[in-house]
Amino acid sequence: MTVTRFAPSPTGRLHVGNLRPALLNWLHARKEGGTFILRIDDTDAERSREEYVDAIRRDLDWLGLGWDRFERQSARMERYDAASDALRADERLYPAYETATELDLRRKYQRQAGKPPVYDRAALKLSDDDRARLEGEGRRAHWRFLLDRERVSWDDGIRGETAVDCASVSDPVLIREDGGYLYTLCSVCDDLDFGVTDVIRGEDHVTNTATQIQIFRAMGGSPTGFAHHSLLVDADGSSLSKRLGSLTLESLREGGIEPMALLSYMARLGTSDPVEPRADHAELIAGFDLSRFGRAPARFGTEELAALNAKTLHTKPYSEVADRLRAAGVPNEVAEHFWSVIRENIEGLDDVGAWAAILNGAVDPLVAEEDRAYVAEAMAELDAARPWTGETWSHVTGALKARTGRKGKALFMPLRKALTGRADGPDMAMLLPLLQRREESA
Ligand code: GLU
Repeated sequence: MTVTRFAPSPTGRLHVGNLRPALLNWLHARKEGGTFILRIDDTDAERSREEYVDAIRRDLDWLGLGWDRFERQSARMERYDAASDALRADERLYPAYETATELDLRRKYQRQAGKPPVYDRAALKLSDDDRARLEGEGRRAHWRFLLDRERVSWDDGIRGETAVDCASVSDPVLIREDGGYLYTLCSVCDDLDFGVTDVIRGEDHVTNTATQIQIFRAMGGSPTGFAHHSLLVDADGSSLSKRLGSLTLESLREGGIEPMALLSYMARLGTSDPVEPRADHAELIAGFDLSRFGRAPARFGTEELAALNAKTLHTKPYSEVADRLRAAGVPNEVAEHFWSVIRENIEGLDDVGAWAAILNGAVDPLVAEEDRAYVAEAMAELDAARPWTGETWSHVTGALKARTGRKGKALFMPLRKALTGRADGPDMAMLLPLLQRREESA
């Protein structure tokens, strides 16, 4: 049975870059009828925050990406203690004492000498006396995993046959000086214990995968399957990293992006399939195929997302927005008609508020000096034509046209601006019956 996991570190808000592994792992589990685990990677006590754990849950809830199991690494320290004791006993973990500055310097020399900046394993040569002396100086050991200097390869679910030569990789640190465990070890323990079958994550983890495959084996387990998706870039191909702070799921939600629009978009980014709005999660799952994803960077376009969001709204049935319309102050008795009239004219559901306000009389009429007389005449004509129906607009403007000789924009625009306070919006013939309400209630 397929088991996947999304494993965020709660050190910040989720952004569109994090959403990719979340969504792909969720889709893969759902498509295969498997289990999706939400695992909180919170072994870094200094940087992890409970408020971010809550925010991660909220963001995934908002998107409807439910999990079948919830785990957190901070609750599993005993397991990591046991795993590291076993690795120590097998001499796959060794203590090292270099400071970050010393390591930096060493890497600099290696580069200058034209050598790859790989950890030279100097710590392996320390005698018991050396170690006692270093500890006497107040140094604390960090612990490195002794890699087999061999090529590690796997059949990647996205990249195909992938190999990393571990001879050019530094022995990874699994335990910090302060005794804290690094995710590299914890993740392998968890994936083994929770029966994870597939890990889908960004290609920035490819080297990690090679070292983790060795750790799986050193722990006597078999590695999970791996698939590495390409990373997001800006629409023009440049790095998205600086913009990610403004592309949090929270800010997209507050900016009026609909969950299905975001999911439909993200489920297609990085494939060559066209971006299309999906009606619901079932449709998203049915259209998911990991093998459609390629190695090319996935271009994330804010405008493309906004366009998809608008498209999603334009076909959204009233039943799905009824609550939101009510919350925005749209009176119940006209809400369904209101939605059919304005949905093509909004880019995000947040725009509903502005139209609801117009409906409820909050309008600053825009009347140009030269149109004053014309607008006054038209308003009198409109008043006389109450109650307003779907026909009223064409009758009244027809009469005005005949009497004033105005036509086209000169005929309609001053009235639109006077009645709605804006120059754009839905067909006035359809809007007018809705505006009448405010006159009645005024
Ligand atoms: N906590 C890790 C990260 O956010 C998880 C990576 C993984 O999926 O293994 O990068």
